[in-house]
Order: sequence, then C-alpha cells, then structure tokens
Amino acid sequence: MASDRTLRKGGTRRRTTKQVPREGAPVAGSAKSQAEGALVTMGELREHAEVHTRAIEEHLVTWRRDFHRHAETGWLEFRTASLIARALEGWGWTVSAGRDVVDPDTRMGVPDPEVLDAAWERAHAQGGDPEYLAALRGGYTGVVATLSVGADGPERKPVVGLRFDIDALDLQESRSPRHRPAALGFGSINPDAAHACGHDAHAAIGLGVASVVSSLAKSAPELLPTGTIKLIFQPAEEGVRGAKAMVHAGVVDDVDAILALHVYSGWPTGQVACGRDSFLATDKFDVILTGESAHAGGNPQGGKNALLAAATAALNLHALPRHREGPSRINVGRLVAGQGRNVIPPTAYLAVETRGGTSQINDAMRAAAERVIRAAAAMYDCIADIRPMGSARSAQSDPALYQRAAAVATALSGLQVRDPEPGGGSEDFTYMMHRVQQQGGLASAMGIGADIGSFGHHTPEFDIDEAVLPEAVKLLTVLSLDLIGNPLTGS
Ligand SMILES: [Zn+2]
Repeated sequence: MASDRTLRKGGTRRRTTKQVPREGAPVAGSAKSQAEGALVTMGELREHAEVHTRAIEEHLVTWRRDFHRHAETGWLEFRTASLIARALEGWGWTVSAGRDVVDPDTRMGVPDPEVLDAAWERAHAQGGDPEYLAALRGGYTGVVATLSVGADGPERKPVVGLRFDIDALDLQESRSPRHRPAALGFGSINPDAAHACGHDAHAAIGLGVASVVSSLAKSAPELLPTGTIKLIFQPAEEGVRGAKAMVHAGVVDDVDAILALHVYSGWPTGQVACGRDSFLATDKFDVILTGESAHAGGNPQGGKNALLAAATAALNLHALPRHREGPSRINVGRLVAGQGRNVIPPTAYLAVETRGGTSQINDAMRAAAERVIRAAAAMYDCIADIRPMGSARSAQSDPALYQRAAAVATALSGLQVRDPEPGGGSEDFTYMMHRVQQQGGLASAMGIGADIGSFGHHTPEFDIDEAVLPEAVKLLTVLSLDLIGNPLTGS
C-alpha cells in the first residue's frame, strides 16, 4: 500500500538547514532555572526544530489519515506498529518490537487466537511491513525506538521517554458525508474499528518527533545536548490493557523523565495542559460463572443456577459501600446468562469494573467485589472464574516537569498554556509514570486541544483538527531536547 512508501519518504524529504555555530553549552539546572530550563541556549535549536517540523507538515497529515483509514484495535495494531518500526529504522533509530518490549505474562484483554491471526493476515494484505509483522505476530504490537544525540559516549544520559498509544476503538465509524474522514476518503475501511480517540494522531506525532530529531541530528548535531530520546509506541490503551506489559518488559527502567500527550477535541487547538492530576485507578475483569443445567420442570433440584448467582452478584456489587478516603466506583456493564426457557441456566457472564481515587481505594473495591462474586457463586453452588481484562493505577504529574513543559510551550509559537487538567477517567500510562517516579525520575501526562467541532471522544463522528499535529511535534521535540540539555532532578 501507498502508506509504506509514504512513511519512508517522510525521512528523506527533509529541508536542509544552515548549520549555526553554538553559543555556549547548556548549563546544569539550578533551583532557580529549573522551570525555564535551557531555553536561552536552546533558542537556535528551537528555531531549527520549527523549520524541520514545518517541512513535514504534509507528511504528518498523510500519516494520520493512513493510520485512521486502517484503524486497528488493541493488540491487533500489526500494520500500524510494523510501519512505525520500519520508518523509525529507516531514520536511524534503534528499534525493538514484539516480545522484547511486551511481556507475555502481563498482557490483559488479549483477543482470541483466531481474531489475532485474522487481523495479522489483514495487516499483510493492507501493506504492513513483512519483516516487522513477523516480530509482532500473536499480538505483541509494541514498538520502542531510541536515538542517542550529542557527544559520543558509552551511555548517553539522561533518557527522556515519550509514550504514544496507537490503538483504535471497537466502534463502527460514521459513514455520513458530513463526517470529514468519510467525505475525504480516509474513513476506516476496517469494520468495527475506528480511531475515535485520536490515537491515530498520537502515532503520527510520534513519527513526526522521530523524523524531526533525526533531521536535527544530521543537520545541526553540534546544537544537540548529550542524551537519549526513547519513543514508546504502546498497544491496547483502550480498556487499559497494554502499558503494564510494556512496563514489565522493562521499557521504562532507564528513563529519567517520561511524558505522554493526548489530543482533545473539546479544547481549542493549540491549548496545552502540561500536567494532569488524579487519574482514577481501575480494574476491569470478566466473571464466568459455571453451574449445571437441568430440566426446569422435571429436575429443578438437580441444577446449579448460574443466572441467579450472577444476578445476586450484580445487585450486591452495586450495594457495596463507597470508600471514605476518596472517590470509588463499581459497574456491572454486562450480564449474559442462560440458554433456554425450560433449562436451569448453567453459565453466566459479567463484565465488571472498579475505580478508585487512589490505587489503594481501587484495590479495596476490587477485593470487596471479588468477595461478593465468590459468595454469590457459593450460594448457588457455582464456580466463579475471575479474569483480569485491564487495569491502571492512579498517578500524579510532577509539578517540576509540568512547569518546565509550560515554560517550553510558552516559548513556542502557536501554543497557549492552560491549567493542569482535572481528573476523571483512567489511563494506563500511569503504570509508566509510577515506575519512572519510583526510580526517582519524573513523569507528566499532558493534553493538547485539537477542536474541529467538539465531536465527542469515543463516538462514531469523532474527528480532530489536524493543525494540532505540527504543534505537538514541535512541543515534544523541543521539550525532550530541553530536558536532556538541562535535566530536572527527581522529586
Ligand atoms: Zn485516548
């Protein structure tokens, strides 16, 4: 497919920039300069980054539309991940993909083998990169790429990590001519898979950062501070299923500062929230209740009623008391049970989630929920099988990091800083934040406006303003280099 060629082309169609002599090396951050960072000495680099970003503006749109058109849902991002890996390798990045960056034992909510195989074949047919497709087979659809810049050395620290989620949603995209992707011919061609949360934009932004940093490393190496940029392309964010497996594979163990940026259709384009407080911790799990069927008229005492066990569980899960230390939630989103009118129902299925204002509150809700489910099963002499389908921690962005991000955003044209985003939903980037913070590093979850009509996230009509793409590339590129040039000390 055309996209493969297009992706490769992005790296070569680079505007060459005049080399500018460096004026003074970046200075180490004092307490006073922590927020403003190395922005003064980074001035030239900033200009170069802006020029290189302008040069790939059209590619950014092409990449985003290509990912959008070939939307792939969690653990099935074979085509998307293979093309990202191929492009990054072509631009000189060191690329790891598949089992090296996705721990097999901590993946959650992985589709059945037949679904994985069918999606893998489809990715082949739709122009995925054959070499990388082989590495991703079975649903190991993560990609990590590093590029060390600046002076040569054995270990180029600090390491700044950027995380991009790449999955689509289980949703049929609108085919209405009023829906811009449909009207312009880049609506999803894959049924029941749609980029309705902007992760297609995230993937394109990640490619853009890779392309611009490569260009800078070639055209203005003397301007670059010494360190490493690590790009993490994460599968299966929807349903909070993918980040834990990448953390368990060790992909953020060497990272000193980690950032993620989410596009939002509800904010004016270019408005940036440089941090976010309070993600709700969450657990998602499936419950399979197994009893025994029997003739409802002739042998009612011989059955074990899984439907009643499920109904008892559902009512009592919703009757659990709230937690005094903060917000807590529980929801039974789905209940399916039974077979025929005259059969004692032998099986039942429940889709359940808990949430909490902190990981501890969520853990308490999850433990209480399990107790209710097992007790309800015991009442009806059924067996309960509880299967984890997704989870995320609570987390908080580090103030020092979001102040630095705000200083960088303010120094760039086209961006306005807004207040840190209040909490509400859940995000599995929190696993990466937590691991980096645990090691003494810093983390921040950022948001950027991309409004083109306030289409709701996770709806069939969702769309974004593509003008956000170069703004985001510029911001993440300059911020990463700024953090390398003038590292923040951990909190
Ligand atoms: Zn999202």
